[in-house]
Amino acid sequence: MRLKHTVTAILIVFALITAKSWGEGKATMQKQVFGKLDDGQEIYLYTLTNQKGMQAGIITYGGAVVSLKVPDHKGELGDVVLGYANLDGYVHDKAYFGALIGRYGNRIAHGKFVLDGKTYMLFKNDGDNTLHGGKIGFNKRVWTAKEVSSPAGPALELTYLSPDGEEGFPGNLSVKVVYTLMNDNALRIEYNATTDKDTVLNLTNHSYFNLAGQGNGDILADEVTIHASRFTPVDANLIPTGELQPVKGTPFDFTKPMVVGARIDDNYEQLKLGHGYDHNFVLDGGGKGALQLAAEVYEPNSGRVMDVLTTQPAVQFYTGNFLDGTVTGKDGKVYQRRSALCLETQHYPDSPNHPSFPTTELKPGQHYHYVTVYKFLAK
Ligand code: BGC
Repeated sequence: MRLKHTVTAILIVFALITAKSWGEGKATMQKQVFGKLDDGQEIYLYTLTNQKGMQAGIITYGGAVVSLKVPDHKGELGDVVLGYANLDGYVHDKAYFGALIGRYGNRIAHGKFVLDGKTYMLFKNDGDNTLHGGKIGFNKRVWTAKEVSSPAGPALELTYLSPDGEEGFPGNLSVKVVYTLMNDNALRIEYNATTDKDTVLNLTNHSYFNLAGQGNGDILADEVTIHASRFTPVDANLIPTGELQPVKGTPFDFTKPMVVGARIDDNYEQLKLGHGYDHNFVLDGGGKGALQLAAEVYEPNSGRVMDVLTTQPAVQFYTGNFLDGTVTGKDGKVYQRRSALCLETQHYPDSPNHPSFPTTELKPGQHYHYVTVYKFLAK
């Protein structure tokens, strides 16, 4: 009898250990109401959980990633993205927390561009420039959601039809973004679009990462690597000058792991203009269609690592310079300056006004298609 109990106990312990070391559970997706807009429209929160227990919360308002729970070196989950406690926060947001950005990520100078000989005027929401799509960008639109999970992981498809002339951009644009929470602890974002008129397009996601956990101090001790030997310097309005400047010998050299805070306040003109890092890095060999490693971030206390892979030609490295403690986010956390960093994969800012930059034009019959992956590990 005693032997039988001992054997049973050993088997149970063995099963528990095996389950823990494999860490495999069931991937799931849950849908709930996140809030209601003033016009009565319901906004949904989808919670994606992969087989390892990593979780992503995504809302249909702005297609925003509102939470991302990732294990640290002890296996403890922590939410690594900034966000708001409720829908109201996202409706009034000016920082673009977690949101899908369109039609044009980053700035278009003087809110103006010429395409096929025609001048298009956009809404200027950033001084004399258009930033992240204008007055009501994709971050303030309601997206239609559909579950499209596969063996790779739970997946959510978000679609939005941007009418011809919206925010001044030409063409009826049909956009489809698929978020997959991969079972290997990666958030994969696939961007697709088609148009019925020549237009310009630059989609991205604006998640603010703090790998120590959102609201837990600043990101100055993070070690960052960016596989870019050139960046696009900016003028006083954060518009690219058109030049591609080598990073070598400058505080912009992240080709080897570098602590973010090591040089951020150096007396260097580009850092002053950006109030820190707020620049477009040109990825070595990027934009050729292959998914390649663009950047890596390591946070020493939690041991969390984030690898950013993309098919895009560039990435905007932004160190949360404009966060100023006026925003209260999830769990009552107050977000101070540099309390998160963004790695927004993209085409270069203001490309429509720089013929020498890789083109952002999209024509009828063409399929806009880019993939970005944020992969998480711990060491
Ligand atoms: C831009 C910053 C801007 C931030 C929030 C970033 O993509 O480069 O200049 O302040 O988004 O809008």
